Amino acid sequence: MKIEIKNKDCVFITLNNKVYYIDDSTDESIIDSWELKDYCQNCGSSLGIYNGDAEEDYNNSFCSKGCYYKYTNKN
Ligand SMILES: [Zn+2]
Repeated sequence: MKIEIKNKDCVFITLNNKVYYIDDSTDESIIDSWELKDYCQNCGSSLGIYNGDAEEDYNNSFCSKGCYYKYTNKN
C-alpha cells in the first residue's frame, strides 16, 4: 500500500492496483476510486516518463496538477 498525502485535505491511497482518493478541500467530502493505470486519468498521456516540456507527474494517476484539478473539477 502506498499512501500519498497531497495536502491537509487530500490523500491518495494505492492498494492492490486501485487508487482511492479522498478529498475534503472543497467541503464536498469526495471519495472516489479507480484502477491504477500507467497513463493520466484525465488526458491519457503516459506517466512515469519525464520529458523536458512536461511537469513532473503529479502522482500515479495524473500527469500534472492541472489534470488532477480538471479531473476533480477544481479550479
Ligand atoms: Zn494529464
